[in-house]
Amino acid sequence: MQPKILLLEDLPADAELVQMELMLGGIDAEILRVASRETFVNALAKFQPDIILSDFNLPGFSGMSGLEIRNQQAQNVPFIFVTGSLGEEMAVSTLRSGATDFVLKDRMARLPAAVSAALDSSAQREERERVDRELTTERSLMQAVLDAAQAMIVVLDHNGHIMHTNAAAGRMTSQSRPDMIGNKFWEAMSQSDQSETVRQHIQAALDSHDDSPLPSWPMVTHAERTVICSSAKLPSNYRGERLVVCGIDVTDQERAERHAFFLGHFDPITNLPNRRHFLQQLSEYCNRRDSDTGTALVIMMIGMVRAQEIADSYGDATFNQVLIEMVRRLRVWQSHADLLARVADSSFALAFEVGRGPDLDMLVPHILEQLREPITVGQSQILPAVHGGLALYPDNASEAGLLLQAAESALHCVTPETTQNFAFYTPLLSDQIRERLLLEGELREALKTDDQLILHYQPQVDIATGQVIGLEALIRWRHPRLEWLPPARFIPLAEVCGLMVPLGRWVMRRACQQLRDWKVQGFIAPTVAINLSAGQFSAPSLIDDVGITLREFGVEPHQLELELTESASMSHPEASIVIMQQLRNMGLKIAIDDFGTGYSNLSYLKRFPVDRLKLDQAFVRDIMTDADDLAISRAIIAMAHQLRLEVVAEGVETREQLKLLAGAGCRTVQGYLFSRPVAAEVCQALVQLPFAVY
Ligand code: C2E
Ligand code: MG
Ligand code: MG
Repeated sequence: MQPKILLLEDLPADAELVQMELMLGGIDAEILRVASRETFVNALAKFQPDIILSDFNLPGFSGMSGLEIRNQQAQNVPFIFVTGSLGEEMAVSTLRSGATDFVLKDRMARLPAAVSAALDSSAQREERERVDRELTTERSLMQAVLDAAQAMIVVLDHNGHIMHTNAAAGRMTSQSRPDMIGNKFWEAMSQSDQSETVRQHIQAALDSHDDSPLPSWPMVTHAERTVICSSAKLPSNYRGERLVVCGIDVTDQERAERHAFFLGHFDPITNLPNRRHFLQQLSEYCNRRDSDTGTALVIMMIGMVRAQEIADSYGDATFNQVLIEMVRRLRVWQSHADLLARVADSSFALAFEVGRGPDLDMLVPHILEQLREPITVGQSQILPAVHGGLALYPDNASEAGLLLQAAESALHCVTPETTQNFAFYTPLLSDQIRERLLLEGELREALKTDDQLILHYQPQVDIATGQVIGLEALIRWRHPRLEWLPPARFIPLAEVCGLMVPLGRWVMRRACQQLRDWKVQGFIAPTVAINLSAGQFSAPSLIDDVGITLREFGVEPHQLELELTESASMSHPEASIVIMQQLRNMGLKIAIDDFGTGYSNLSYLKRFPVDRLKLDQAFVRDIMTDADDLAISRAIIAMAHQLRLEVVAEGVETREQLKLLAGAGCRTVQGYLFSRPVAAEVCQALVQLPFAVY
């Protein structure tokens, strides 16, 4: 290609001379002559010369100035002075200032060689720069590829020093590249307690000779990441690079696996083992256990009564706090780290060693007592009700699964009417339990079908007039398998299996619906009394439920009376007072049922905002024969009147009983003497005709 020469020369003759010399030297160039600063600068930009030949002195401009401009704007273009005499000093100075060469005008024959040499060296430099640029691009592409890799890639020299790393290596160790480069791999990357093991792996890899793949190994980095490393020898020794170590971060997978294991074996709320894990641990414990210790291994299943109601009323977060507090209390008793578990939604299993006999009989109530202590969560105070079922190893079963089942059977045996809130397993239990569980399922179904449950009503009669002044609603179950079931057969069951609130709601709705129907039929019914169980009474939803139901059926509050047993109202008297007051404020009447059997604290009775006491039928039954019962009945009636409470005597079956009660001042009675509880259709007739009292 024809080279382009920019010639800075004021004399045309000298320019011609230059051209001629070049031609003589075989250089066919395109030459542009300029003689001023302006034209020179212009030519640099537009003409883009391959080389500049410059005179030293020009009018109004100088070669040195031209050189300076070239230094700034076209550094890579060779610059040769073609000049008259030039002192040695000046010659050195031009070269220092960046001139490529100089040719004296009296030695012009050298010009073509000088130009050729300058063009060659310029071409070579350009080629070098191009190669350098390509190398740099390639290197940064390689680094970008390495950095894009999710795996750690580290290159080591023959001593295990780090020579290159990628971004993933930095992420996995939380270190910057400069911090790692030059350091020993095992010191820079792994935690100190592992560095010797890691060093051995690296050394083995460096020492290996054949191409067979090296085993991979785990490493925990300074940044607590678990990395599975593998290494490969580099095929040849580049600049000292010997070994590539690749690592994959498995921390998240490991965590996920651990989490999956946790979820499969533990309860995430209490962090206790779940049923499955507990059984494994219990089984291992039993196998390890020395049977000659003289102690018994007790498996105690602890069930929370009305757990679902707590969760429904207070929300899951509060319920979880209750569970956590229960666990804290239970931990005191566990014998071994794994022998406390949450085995179902509302039950725990605890295994502990204890001396046989009296020890256990004293210990179990003590444990349950502590669990029953109120639990405060935020603004709410929750009174947990718990019961226990116990089985002994190896007496009751020799295998963990059966042992837990035995404790569970015993647990199912405890109901509100059993005297103790715990039971020990006996083989007889299993059949009873099966029956109970069956009944529980059937009750659930009955609540859905709505044609098996029925309310009957028993009149309450005013002794003076024979008028029916109230009706007590009493539930019955027309059971598909067992025919008529009295409430005693299923109310306690509903209490323990969490069905009492829905059952109670059903009773309330059914009674209100009946009141509405009677009203539609033009029958003005007297007050209807509904029995509330302890669980219903303490459920926070009670007040709302009552209000909603009254409104739904257009029933006036004074048409309803709520009966609460003495024992239920006395178990947490302060709380009872608050609830009674709220119901009273709504306009409902309140009665205390089965009064006299519950060892009432009289000071509370005085404070209870109630309307009536129902004298328990136990007193009435023997009132004719048992002088004590008569005395108690009289005392209760007198005391009630003192407190301005009405008394209803329950279970009055004979006229003699009626007379005695009337003599003691009782004005209202309820019992078979006048009527058994009857179907709703019969009530109208009963109410309209007064009973003949004497
Ligand atoms: P309670 O509330 O004390 O009801 C009185 C019980 O005595 C009724 O038994 C009634 O049939 C029975 N009774 C009435 N007069 C006589 C009599 O002259 N002699 C004898 N021997 N018994 C008489 P029932 O209907 O079997 O109810 C038993 C208990 O079940 C009730 O005692 C009450 O505590 C509970 N209950 C009944 N219905 C409901 C209900 O809807 N909800 C709740 N929570 N409990 C209920
Ligand atoms: Mg009652
Ligand atoms: Mg009663």
